[in-house]
Amino acid sequence: MSYCVNCGVELEASLRECPLCHTPVINPVEAGKEFPPSPFPANKGQVEVVKRKDLGILLSVVLTATGVTCLLLNLLVFDHFLWSLLVIGICICLFVFIFPAVFYSKMPLLVSLSADGMAVAVYLYMIAYITPSTAWFWELGLPIVALVTLGVGIFVLLAKKVPFTILSGALCLFIEIPLFCTALELMIRRMIMSPLRLTWSAVVLTVCVIIDVALITILVKKRLRNEVRRRLHF
Ligand SMILES: [Zn+2]
Repeated sequence: MSYCVNCGVELEASLRECPLCHTPVINPVEAGKEFPPSPFPANKGQVEVVKRKDLGILLSVVLTATGVTCLLLNLLVFDHFLWSLLVIGICICLFVFIFPAVFYSKMPLLVSLSADGMAVAVYLYMIAYITPSTAWFWELGLPIVALVTLGVGIFVLLAKKVPFTILSGALCLFIEIPLFCTALELMIRRMIMSPLRLTWSAVVLTVCVIIDVALITILVKKRLRNEVRRRLHF
């Protein structure tokens, strides 16, 4: 049994160098002797990678089968209410989410993002359809989905157009969050018919304005910006 003189790892008899530190194996006692043939195969084998499209077909088939069987189960056995719409909606959403990744990777990000937003909206409508009232969907569900999609879209667009850093990304985020919260509070108040004014969202707005002012100062002052980058390692 041999050990590497450098790192001490135990060495297989056929090895000519240490597999860890690559120190050559020289054993004076066995000088001149032939190294036994390596027990390991010379070529690295690899299992063939599953093609994305094949994976996509598999996932689509599974999702379709799930939707159809649940619909049948709903219509033929447990038919007291249309619960299968909840499952079908999730299947549709998942299909729309994975579509760009497995079938069409060249799809523009904003197009796939809009499709994701629409899929979620359709799913919420399906839930609204089987609940007593659809009012919450029109007054709260749909606007929230639209706002979140718009917010993510603006974020993605900015990340593409301007030189994107963690600092500018954070600034964008801390501008979008209070706007979203303000819109959310106004929508909730409108829905429950209470006077349109800001309470909790005003607190969020205040905190975010302070953070934004700090971020803008850091971004504008080059020396400050470099110092922050150096200290936070980005
Ligand atoms: Zn070694």
